[in-house]
Amino acid sequence: MITIAIDGHSSCGKSTMAKNLAKELGYVYIDTGAMYRSVTYYAMQNGMIDAEGKINTERLLADMPNIKISFKFNPETGRPDTYLNGECVENKIRTLEVSNHVSPIATLGFVREAMVAQQREMGKAKGVILDGRDIGTTVFPNAELKIFVTASAEVRAQRRYDELTARGDNANFQDILENVLQRDHIDRVEDFVLAREAVLALQVVAEGGVVAVHPLAGVLDGAPGQAIQGDDVVRHLVQGHTASQGGVAVQDHDHILDGGGDGALLGELQLRRPVGSR
Ligand code: C5P
Repeated sequence: MITIAIDGHSSCGKSTMAKNLAKELGYVYIDTGAMYRSVTYYAMQNGMIDAEGKINTERLLADMPNIKISFKFNPETGRPDTYLNGECVENKIRTLEVSNHVSPIATLGFVREAMVAQQREMGKAKGVILDGRDIGTTVFPNAELKIFVTASAEVRAQRRYDELTARGDNANFQDILENVLQRDHIDRVEDFVLAREAVLALQVVAEGGVVAVHPLAGVLDGAPGQAIQGDDVVRHLVQGHTASQGGVAVQDHDHILDGGGDGALLGELQLRRPVGSR
């Protein structure tokens, strides 16, 4: 069992990828965005954010020890639901209102400290997949597999729009796009830069409904543009890792990089899964 870190921009499909993988591998999925959303929901419910969006940081700081977030597997959906102090808040934290307030909350140092501590505690037994912004850099810098996912703001807004309308919410594409752009602006840019650098091996770009995997420069000489589903790549990497006790291919993402015989892995993946042959 390993630790898998999936970092990247909001709404680009990384949590769907993480959930699917967790289900298939029998790993525990930890949605760190849901944790920051839960803190935001708590602050909203307790009158700690005023009409102008100003946060009462003193009260929130004092309440941090009382904010406990957990995930419980929902057999009906086959996915984990988010719980805030024992209450299921899975749907309540996905509203545009929460999305509009979450980034300023997530930039508060004391909120990040508390969430990172809870994430490390949940992940210490390994066999976990976490998605967020700072997983491969801050939360689990020693994660055996680190992946970075991104997409254009329009593609991400469309994903969020489809999600909200599928749930029956009244969604406005322009409002969502503005929210995505605003969150990109508030989210700490350096997190993304660092997360991307930490990965080295793979960057997943979600465009036009396809999650394509691009080995970053220098990983594969002259690699053609890969259009392998992101999930598939990770699945193979994880299986390769698991099989490494038997001396097979990948042990960690560094081994994909350094050539050392294992550089063939991505090539192998392409052979097994040529573009479009799912
Ligand atoms: O991924 P999701 O859109 O649900 O994340 C909600 C917000 O939580 C992000 O826009 C970001 O501000 C914050 N976040 C964070 N660090 C993480 C995960 C999410 O700051 N690890």
